[in-house]
Amino acid sequence: MYKGIVFDLDGTLVDSKLCFRTIRKQLGIPEGQWILEYLDQLPRQEKAAKLAELEQIELQAARNSDLYAGVLPLLEELRSKRIKLGIFTRNCSSVVRQITGKFKMKIDLVVTRDDGPPKPNPAGFKKFLETWNLMGHELLFVGDVYHDIDCGKQAGVKTALFTNGNSITNSNLKPDHQILGYDDFHHCIK
Ligand SMILES: [Mg+2]
Repeated sequence: MYKGIVFDLDGTLVDSKLCFRTIRKQLGIPEGQWILEYLDQLPRQEKAAKLAELEQIELQAARNSDLYAGVLPLLEELRSKRIKLGIFTRNCSSVVRQITGKFKMKIDLVVTRDDGPPKPNPAGFKKFLETWNLMGHELLFVGDVYHDIDCGKQAGVKTALFTNGNSITNSNLKPDHQILGYDDFHHCIK
């Protein structure tokens, strides 16, 4: 059984209703560009201003967010099995604090873009593995997009794709587990 389970946030634990197309439009980011990476190469002042604007958009989305069905009971169950729980997200720390506070989620370790290079850079996994003293195969990463699975594989951890009831459309994607919903999680922790 896994000793640690790390979740992506948006689209995995919470339906945050973030529309990246709208965000790009609002911040003047060309379609198809990665938001954080685009902002990172802007002049310092412009970058700071746009990151602040992005954070406001994310905080507003967090206020309107909903947890996916079954998340809280699952987290409680995993906690009762003494499995460490983490969040690894491209979102910022203030948003994670707001969401974990709003839904009273107990998470042992959170890694956000404020802590280091954002996903899909796999460096953030080092923090989970070192803090919890785990080997890669003892850690499961649950995410909702291709880049999550790819990032987990690069870090040498096990991966699960949360599909929210959909079937996998990308055949290159070979997660260790596929989760339709959180009442369908038990096959991952047998
Ligand atoms: Mg996501």
